[in-house]
Amino acid sequence: MLHHEPTYVITNATVYTQGTLQPHTTISVEQGIITTVGKHETAPMKKLKHFDANGGIVGPGLVDMHLHGAGGFGAIKGAMQENLEGLAMFLLKKGITSFQLALVSDLDLLAEIGKALENSPFLSSHLLGVYLEGPFIAAEKRGGILSSNIKSYDKEYLQKILTIQAGGKPLVTTMTIAPEVHGSEELADILEEHHIVVAYGHSNCTIDELRPRARNHITHLYNAMSPIDHKRPGLAAMPFVRPFSHTTYELVCDGVHVHPALLDLTIRNFGTERLCIISDAMILAGLGACEGTYVGKKIYSNGKACYYSDNDMLR
Ligand SMILES: [Zn+2]
Repeated sequence: MLHHEPTYVITNATVYTQGTLQPHTTISVEQGIITTVGKHETAPMKKLKHFDANGGIVGPGLVDMHLHGAGGFGAIKGAMQENLEGLAMFLLKKGITSFQLALVSDLDLLAEIGKALENSPFLSSHLLGVYLEGPFIAAEKRGGILSSNIKSYDKEYLQKILTIQAGGKPLVTTMTIAPEVHGSEELADILEEHHIVVAYGHSNCTIDELRPRARNHITHLYNAMSPIDHKRPGLAAMPFVRPFSHTTYELVCDGVHVHPALLDLTIRNFGTERLCIISDAMILAGLGACEGTYVGKKIYSNGKACYYSDNDMLR
């Protein structure tokens, strides 16, 4: 496969460079590093492995830091490695070359994912880690997370999560916590000591309950959090106010999770510097209108977004 070849040339590519799309471009890569991007193929290049892009756009791979599954693949107990490899392959075909697998807190599931990663070099070159949503979040803003996957802060349980490792590091690389959870500052400190991104989300806090940290990040801004009420601004106001102007934030830009007007308002205000576009996709993503199950519950997709079948709640 192309990305496993360290040295090669791509010809007839359309490349976004110097502010415009440039057709008929040749890209040469040596030992995994892009060495030239230009119009002409030079003589030494001809000796290298060669790919014709047929005029297609060639660009860097996309990173989806928050994705639960897609293409009929997800974190399925008992068939983890096949599923996650299938997911990584499906995403590759869509241009997503690396991702964090989002998950609600389940120790057995985490252990299985850790094993799958240890056993599959292919998987470990695409799956960056697990994005754990919870369990230390606010029940009032659980969104699609079942109550059984929510807990008050519990250091022992946290230790259990941290001991599940892959490649000598905790398998979890990002964790959503609600800042109003009792003990959240200690929790955030421990996570950062383990190089885990602390993401605020699934929270009903007010802006007054927040304290800036050196790094702040928000899980799917606007979804499953206290909104920007003018008398009681909630977590959604955080990236807009000065002490938190360094906050990075995720946005689901499908026009369903967040109204397009709010996407416009947000991105025009912040630019793209702090923006992480995420899909928050589910197992049914990319399959058109269909039905399936998630965490034991029936779900359906209308081809645009995925919902729980029993209450039509957006998943
Ligand atoms: Zn969520």
